[in-house]
Amino acid sequence: MTKKRIIFCDFDGTITVNDNIVAIMKHFKPEGWDTLVDQVISKQISIREGVGRMFALLPTSMKQEVIDYAIGNVTIRAGFQELLDYCRKEAITFLVTSGGIDFFVYPVLSEFAIPKENIYCNGSDFGGDRIRITWPHACDSHCSNDCGMCKTTIIRSYPAEEYHRILIGDSVTDFEGAKLVDTVFARSHLVQMCEELGLPYDKYEDFYDVINRLEEMKVK
Ligand code: MG
Ligand code: ZN
Repeated sequence: MTKKRIIFCDFDGTITVNDNIVAIMKHFKPEGWDTLVDQVISKQISIREGVGRMFALLPTSMKQEVIDYAIGNVTIRAGFQELLDYCRKEAITFLVTSGGIDFFVYPVLSEFAIPKENIYCNGSDFGGDRIRITWPHACDSHCSNDCGMCKTTIIRSYPAEEYHRILIGDSVTDFEGAKLVDTVFARSHLVQMCEELGLPYDKYEDFYDVINRLEEMKVK
């Protein structure tokens, strides 16, 4: 029996052209945000710690501004709707696995027909003085990366014996997942990581590239 295909698709810098967390920080420039980004990229601190501390720099009085800015500045990468259509036609399960935050991930995706239970991201709490990020999908006992939103935990719940697992991503939040799956679609930093580790990958610029490659893989 052929394996079922499943896609784990990143959000920031993948479904959207920009990285929304970086865009929010660059726009509001809370003191110290840039050091935290550098520390995450250089792996001095975990993604969870970095993202949590970055948002904690922003007062919750700015809630509406931050949300409006995040949602208003999103550009969807070309071919996304077509990829969703293709997945439906081919019975490929499509999951959004995002290291982003609920207050921009869900509104941006609301124009697409993706069931809410197929979208994984971090949460947020505006109840205190500062924005607090919550982690409903933290790492399981197999992952010591302190991801925040742990893609490998989700990927592991779809066993390799049953599923052909496909990851689409661009950056640090995709590194650990890329090591696990059968097929990696990469752009940007994820290309460099795959090169460095000698992991096979397919490069994409937009989702039409992904569709074309999935179609080729099917006939093979
Ligand atoms: Mg990304
Ligand atoms: Zn993890």
